[in-house]
Amino acid sequence: MAADVLSAAGRSVSVFEKMPTFGRKFLMAGRGGLNLTHSEDLERFLQRYGAASRVLAPMLAAFSPADLRAWADGLGGQTFVGASGRVFPKVMKASPLLRAWLARLEGQGVLLRTRTEWQGWTADGALSFVTPDGVETVRPRLTILALGGA
Ligand SMILES: Cc1cc2nc3c(=O)[nH]c(=O)nc-3n(C[C@H](O)[C@H](O)[C@H](O)COP(=O)(O)OP(=O)(O)OC[C@H]3O[C@@H](n4cnc5c(N)ncnc54)[C@H](O)[C@@H]3O)c2cc1C
Repeated sequence: MAADVLSAAGRSVSVFEKMPTFGRKFLMAGRGGLNLTHSEDLERFLQRYGAASRVLAPMLAAFSPADLRAWADGLGGQTFVGASGRVFPKVMKASPLLRAWLARLEGQGVLLRTRTEWQGWTADGALSFVTPDGVETVRPRLTILALGGA
């Protein structure tokens, strides 16, 4: 998502992924239908976060569940609201959304690298990656770590 926003704003972006393909957990989430968000009004939605709702309020105001739905629809995701009020892609899986998302990133000039595992920083502050061709260092102006649970 960060790569999408930054590259759309004309920044030069590279994404490094240690696995052979992108979005494996996202695809796994899709097996359960991929519940993207909920359709309830923002006030009620925000209450679901309990004590964290105050911290999250400005973020959800800037990018609301409706914005998320519009984002998925913009990628051809075609969302619908289920009986429970939860929002899903019509196809009930993540793969078409992921394919369209990666194609958009490539179209926006994002360099997508797989089998590239970030190891940490070198003594002089470069990012260090292990790749199939050996160790590689990179010096971006800005680094966003989006490592999931790691
Ligand atoms: C079975 C299942 C069902 C789910 N269902 C839903 C659902 O319906 N709705 C929903 O919203 N969420 C669902 N989720 C949760 C959702 O999949 C996660 O919240 C989401 O994938 C987290 O995204 P992320 O980018 O933070 O982390 P991840 O998806 O884990 O992505 C992090 C990436 O970083 C890479 N990485 C890690 N360390 C390094 C490194 N050192 N160098 C390079 N790359 C590295 C990983 O390989 C991974 O590809 C589900 C999850 C599971 C497992």
